[in-house]
Amino acid sequence: MRKPLIAGNWKMHGSLNQVQTLIGDIKAKFPTDSTTQVLVLPTFVHLSLVQQLLKNTTISYGAQNLYVGSSGAFTGEVAGAMLKELGVTHVLVGHSERRSIFHEELALIAAKFKAALDAGLTPILCVGETQTERENGITEKIISEQLDSIISLTGIAAFQRAIIAYEPVWAIGTGLTATPEQAQAVHAFIRQHLAQNKVDIAKAIRILYGGSMKAENAASLLAMPDIDGGLIGGASLEASSFLAIIHAAEQAFQRKNELTKEGS
Ligand code: PEP
Repeated sequence: MRKPLIAGNWKMHGSLNQVQTLIGDIKAKFPTDSTTQVLVLPTFVHLSLVQQLLKNTTISYGAQNLYVGSSGAFTGEVAGAMLKELGVTHVLVGHSERRSIFHEELALIAAKFKAALDAGLTPILCVGETQTERENGITEKIISEQLDSIISLTGIAAFQRAIIAYEPVWAIGTGLTATPEQAQAVHAFIRQHLAQNKVDIAKAIRILYGGSMKAENAASLLAMPDIDGGLIGGASLEASSFLAIIHAAEQAFQRKNELTKEGS
């Protein structure tokens, strides 16, 4: 069984005080026997504080971005090795906001994915189509390109140490959510696409859904067989909604476990 992962992408939000309150509120109600892996992704400047606040908990923390290489004349950038020193375990790569606002192209995203692995970090590769691409019927083509650009640089084996997040661009921060069936169809496609290269890796990799996931819709999305968790933006900034999504993941995992047992 793939262990569920719920990751909170805080984007460019939060002050030191707000971060302290949010982590405090999450810790206060965090289930000690959680079967769900939980990760928060604060800004770079909040990482040290988050590191202190999450000491002696099972909640991990990651970064929202990194640059390639281990050091160099790259003003304003942060290397994977620097993140690793701060106890960071995961890093987002290819988030649609990086692709669209910061014009990150496939080649740079692939290089960042490799840099994350080289630094000993787990990349969470975000893929997804825009509204127009969906309407033009090229969702699978776009996602194949996003995956293949990485596979051709790193080889399929690299996906053993990675996570994928399917995030339809039209659903991010818009309040629109893919229906569970729409999301499941793309998740299954991603798994099938990877299986063309290596079946074991395709079966084992965790594929998260992201795009306006919240307490109200998490259960139905997480119930889908190929949805292994969520990458949550807005709803991760409030402890109560983030905890409700974690709870939904726990329940979905239990149910999937039961179904697997019944089937075997
Ligand atoms: C995201 O930032 O990856 C995201 C899915 O945001 P939201 O949940 O706000 O749509």
